[in-house]
Amino acid sequence: MSTNVTALLGRIRAAEIRFGRKPGSVELLAVSKTHGVDAIAAARAAGIRAFGENYLQEALPKVAALPDLQWHFIGPVQSNKTRPIAERFAWVHTVERLKTAQRLSAQRPPELPPLNICIEVNISGESSKAGVAPSDLADLAQAVAALPGLQLRGLMALPAPEEEFAAQRAAFARLRSCLTSLNEQSLALDTLSMGTTDDFEAAIAEGATIVRIGTALFGPRQY
Ligand SMILES: *Cc1c(COP(=O)(O)O)cnc(C)c1O
Repeated sequence: MSTNVTALLGRIRAAEIRFGRKPGSVELLAVSKTHGVDAIAAARAAGIRAFGENYLQEALPKVAALPDLQWHFIGPVQSNKTRPIAERFAWVHTVERLKTAQRLSAQRPPELPPLNICIEVNISGESSKAGVAPSDLADLAQAVAALPGLQLRGLMALPAPEEEFAAQRAAFARLRSCLTSLNEQSLALDTLSMGTTDDFEAAIAEGATIVRIGTALFGPRQY
């Protein structure tokens, strides 16, 4: 594990330098879905603090076993399951409807800091993909930003896989320009959650501040 972590952090730093990003401006979110507490503890021992999970039932025992880590919810949010997310996670990357945000807002315990939120954007325009359409983004972002108990931080996308670096960059550039236009409409968003094992260097080139990486850290997923 520590060699994977060292190699991956080295690739992230190299991409920051190559694309003119400030050193240390890209955070690694370790995506631990399908991997157990032992693997997560090994990643923690190698210095990783932020972990992403997609499925609530799978995540809750891991969160309970390692509560000192920073937990990010990165899967589809079912509106009847928002309470445990609001209570136990530090971030949700996959808000795509106002109703979900309203529930998270109402259910965030007041003694905790605000829940950090990214809105998921359907940047590839595939009807099967999750995320709000770019044309509906501004209204949703303004509404989410006004909710108590939440801090709207930015945008997230999981674009359709592309082989070519230039095509990968083009999708991430679309998310970046969505963020730019929201910030021109008086929001102050600082987060672009984009890039996975296969395309994180292109995401860093286009301004990613969080890369979400599973396979390059933990190996193939075991279902
Ligand atoms: C699984 C997953 C990742 C990590 O993908 P890898 O290819 O294993 O790096 C990132 N983001 C989301 C939303 C995921 O579901």
